Amino acid sequence: MQQREFIGLEDQFGAHNYKPLDVVLSRGKGIWVWDVDGNKYLDCLAAYSAVNQGHCHPKIMQAMIAQAEKLTLTSRAFRNDQLGPFYQELCELTNSHKVLPMNSGAEAVETAIKTVRKWGYTVKGVAEGRAEIIVCDNNFHGRTISIVSFSTDENARAGFGPFTPGFKRVPFGNVAAFEAAITDNTVAFLVEPIQGEAGVLIPPDGYLKQVREICDRHNIVLILDEIQTGLGRTGRLLAEEHEGIEADLTIIGKALSGGFYPVSAVLSNTEVMDVLQPGEHGSTFGGNPLACAVARAALQVLFDEKLIENSDEQGEYFLNELKKISHPHIKEVRGRGLMLAIEFFPEVGGARAYCNKLKEQGVLAKDTHENIVRFAPPLVIKREEVDMILNAIKKVLPIF
Ligand SMILES: *Cc1c(COP(=O)(O)O)cnc(C)c1O
Repeated sequence: MQQREFIGLEDQFGAHNYKPLDVVLSRGKGIWVWDVDGNKYLDCLAAYSAVNQGHCHPKIMQAMIAQAEKLTLTSRAFRNDQLGPFYQELCELTNSHKVLPMNSGAEAVETAIKTVRKWGYTVKGVAEGRAEIIVCDNNFHGRTISIVSFSTDENARAGFGPFTPGFKRVPFGNVAAFEAAITDNTVAFLVEPIQGEAGVLIPPDGYLKQVREICDRHNIVLILDEIQTGLGRTGRLLAEEHEGIEADLTIIGKALSGGFYPVSAVLSNTEVMDVLQPGEHGSTFGGNPLACAVARAALQVLFDEKLIENSDEQGEYFLNELKKISHPHIKEVRGRGLMLAIEFFPEVGGARAYCNKLKEQGVLAKDTHENIVRFAPPLVIKREEVDMILNAIKKVLPIF
């Protein structure tokens, strides 16, 4: 079948809730993907940072196949021999003391929201039904009704009400606004260390440190959504390390499975997680043996192959080289680790057209909003391959 026919099938039979670049992929290895006609591309999105370990990593694949031959799903009605070791390894690596496994990122965010609400009522002493959670403008935490209830993205919200109450929004990166929004009913602050979907927005230095301090002072749970920033993406295992802090709840997902399987988790550094009692929350697939085996291998690969250090090193090189590119339409380049972006002036826009041109140069990147292009390749990338991306970026700039 031709690319055109695959695209036709998607358009004819699928819901139109995405607008993908017109490239039909059928194979991937490391940082590379191939389309059905055999054209090769350097993947600069890495499935929104779910494939940090690179496409079809052989060690994760082996773990998946081996576990699939033994046991895939028990439900949590019974125990399985992968869950305990997964918990232990994840806790040791992240310095956490409790884990709650789920599948998608949005489910893990929902889990954190439920947990802090219950903590608010049973530990902090907030009156039933009054718990408030503070979130940030331009946040992205997923697509469920409760999560889009506190989104500022009209596309994500319009037509989906009525919405879930109990959320307050403040500007991202502004500690004074955050502190001013706190009331006796505030149970948590939910924030991304770097706002990925908003266009790789990096808060001022010291922001999270001050946020941590304010949360302590007001007895508020700090929830960091590290679904995209976590697991090596920003050059640290968790982005919180850049500020030397620890969240109370940390949400991870995406690269937790290296792209093989949906696996997410809420990590708890405090007693907050202890408020959940048997029967109060769960998921049929959450913590299943196949997911746990895959996640254990995916975590192992991050460390064995020093991917976190590589992200830091290649990311720094990438950003420095980006900064040397000067073009009248570039407003800013920014990044941390291998999470980078070029922002064009808003009146220029052109991000989508730019991505289409990059594709012709063999680089797949994704526009966010009309004027921002994100670069987030798998963390296995090497210096020469970063250079290939940089060359493509330079070559395509004259489209403006
Ligand atoms: C991707 C993402 C989510 C949602 O994860 P899904 O697996 O798509 O539900 C939540 N938060 C952040 C920061 C993300 O990048």
